[in-house]
Amino acid sequence: MTDSLPIRARADIAALPPYRQGRQAGADAFKLSSNENPFEPLPSVVAALQGATGVNRYPDASAALLRARLAERFGVTADEVHIAAGSVSILLQLVLATSGPGDEIIYAWRSFEAYPGHVKIAGATAVEVPLLADGRHDLDAMAAAVTDRTRLIIVCSPNNPTGPIVTQTEFEQFLARIPADVLVILDEAYAEFVTDPEAVDGLRELGVIRPNVVALRTFSKAYGLAGLRVGYAVGHRRVLDLARSTAIPLSVTAAAESAALVSLDAEAELLDRVRELTDRRAALVDGLRAQGWRVPETQGNFVWLDTRADSQRIAATFDEGGIIVRPYGDDGLRISIGEAETVEKVLQIAASVVDTLAKGHPALALA
Ligand SMILES: *Cc1c(COP(=O)(O)O)cnc(C)c1O
Repeated sequence: MTDSLPIRARADIAALPPYRQGRQAGADAFKLSSNENPFEPLPSVVAALQGATGVNRYPDASAALLRARLAERFGVTADEVHIAAGSVSILLQLVLATSGPGDEIIYAWRSFEAYPGHVKIAGATAVEVPLLADGRHDLDAMAAAVTDRTRLIIVCSPNNPTGPIVTQTEFEQFLARIPADVLVILDEAYAEFVTDPEAVDGLRELGVIRPNVVALRTFSKAYGLAGLRVGYAVGHRRVLDLARSTAIPLSVTAAAESAALVSLDAEAELLDRVRELTDRRAALVDGLRAQGWRVPETQGNFVWLDTRADSQRIAATFDEGGIIVRPYGDDGLRISIGEAETVEKVLQIAASVVDTLAKGHPALALA
């Protein structure tokens, strides 16, 4: 049989490379390539999963218990919360609901890899605005990129994979320049790891004041439920109705919903773990900088090295040392904050690599 596509399909979709996951770690390697939480699930989460019965039944389609719980917590109504199988699902729902062929979606680049894929699925046009040299969003250029065709702008804070936040002030000044009928998604997948008090907080006051802003959060990263797939959005009821309309019904399982509820009960404990991770982040960033690396100011559970054309080679060196990192083409590489012992391991390998870079390499701090 030939390997050519045997059916008629959308040419733009047929041209896409199928999704490929970062490499899975072998038994003796640490996987620091997917921004996962290295801690084992809490016993209460495991118990909730074991106690979940009735998988012969469909789940509650609206995840009403979790919605009510989040609504209470953020001081909004349950209609102003939307739950889905990962916040990446909500992104796609809102992309599909707002944009089609001829419409433009603006986001910073490099940012979360799902954005360009979602835009292509919708048949819309991506407007990628390059990050500033320090890995931050260029919000001026993003506001200047708005046209009559703009339907959606995605702001990622902290930015995956480079790490910096957008400040509350920057975000408000940015919104003032954006037409009120253009949806702005604030993707805050790493919000719980933020320690900078200046950082934007999408759940503090938006949604209410700014009906065109939706804040996106997830249980995958800080709460350690990546494998269960549950994320949420907070925003205007009618805007979230659009996401509910493009969602595949019944995608959030009862197990995911109950694990999320139990995690909210155990939040103090989970946030202690987050604090351990942000301490490790500080140790790693300090160590890397002491070796001469230029590390953008990161507020997520990962660090970025601007390794450019050396990215694949350096990722392979980490690999040989038992640390799986994520190289991004010829742009750079991202290393997640993982188990306690990985901090030293990463620093050891990084020290051996830093000497292989030419003077003036963008991954190095100016001497
Ligand atoms: C991990 C991540 C998400 C989504 O994660 P889900 O597991 O789908 O909730 C969304 N945005 C960014 C920037 C991320 O890094």
